[in-house]
Amino acid sequence: MNFIPVNEPLLNGNEKKYLNQCIETGWISSEGEFVKRLESEFAARVKRKYAIAVCNGTAALDIAVAALGIGKGDEVILPTFTIISCAAAIVNAGATPVLVDCDEFTWNMNIHQIEEKITPKTKGIMVVHIYGLPTDMNPILNLADKYGLKIIEDAAEVHGQTYKNIPCGSFGEISTFSFYANKHITTGEGGMILTDDPNLAEKCRSYRNLCFQPQQRFIHEELGGNYRLSNLQAAVGVAQLERLDEFIARKVKMGQGYHELLSNISGLQLPVPKTDYAINHYWVYGVVLQEEIPFDAKEIMSRLKKQSIGIGTRPFFFPMHQQPVFRKMVLFEGESYPVAERIARRGFYIPSGLALTESQIDQVVLMIKEVLR
Ligand SMILES: *Cc1c(COP(=O)(O)O)cnc(C)c1O
Repeated sequence: MNFIPVNEPLLNGNEKKYLNQCIETGWISSEGEFVKRLESEFAARVKRKYAIAVCNGTAALDIAVAALGIGKGDEVILPTFTIISCAAAIVNAGATPVLVDCDEFTWNMNIHQIEEKITPKTKGIMVVHIYGLPTDMNPILNLADKYGLKIIEDAAEVHGQTYKNIPCGSFGEISTFSFYANKHITTGEGGMILTDDPNLAEKCRSYRNLCFQPQQRFIHEELGGNYRLSNLQAAVGVAQLERLDEFIARKVKMGQGYHELLSNISGLQLPVPKTDYAINHYWVYGVVLQEEIPFDAKEIMSRLKKQSIGIGTRPFFFPMHQQPVFRKMVLFEGESYPVAERIARRGFYIPSGLALTESQIDQVVLMIKEVLR
């Protein structure tokens, strides 16, 4: 059957070579040179002092919130339009997530709604750059400054991206990345925490590794977890990082290709190609159905799957304030964020992986035209 998957990674650089080195030397656990190499090379790339490799992007957020000492009675402001990992990290710490809607065009958090959500309990703002386009950071940095708030930056969708030429991943007290298989660079499963604060870095390292103590290994003053990244995974990561610029160029070209081919189809809202602070890196290529289209994303996604050339898609994020799990916890009661609610229902993304070819892009567009006819 002819099918174009929503994502396929590219692993044809030095991945095999470095993996072989792990196997030949026996260094397969987290005690290995590739972990250190990935940490130092990633830190250099994002211009941060410290990098702590972890087992995934979700763990990175959990550790980041814990390391900042955010807990019971504290509030953290974040977008409702994001992955559950963000809100879960705050809830897991015993703190309260406080939501803002997203911007209609960039789909990033609505920066104009943040200040009204700040209370004496607010400890931080969790910024999440969505789908490859950064959040407008300067207004948020100003608010953080004005109210003494910490910034946690979730940069899982923007490896190598910049905001006004400053690397994304360098804005937070702590910033995090994911290396899941659909991210710009992958280790299969993996993540990274970045900071310039040596104390925070030490805390993150400790939480990553069960809070073992160097002097008295099996005596614990605090509870951590095992969130380590293996040398095998890091070996893949080092090989991937070597190609980050090439990968970004591919993603940008893919996005621009889609933009050109889709922009004359009416009824589709496309991602913003650029703002005054960044060009879109199109981590994924999202499309929102406008009012004139008489059905929701769910319908078009199922039709695309069944075309002569099947097209893999994914729905947009489902807003945090409508998550059954949080409703059961009586969070966000009576709250409504209309933009996130609408794009969650009307938005989906189309094949955007690094292995996607030019002719597949043409085929995807052809099938979209077909199902909209
Ligand atoms: C992928 C992603 C995560 C989670 O990363 P995992 O490695 O899958 O745990 C967190 N935040 C954002 C914005 C993501 O896109």
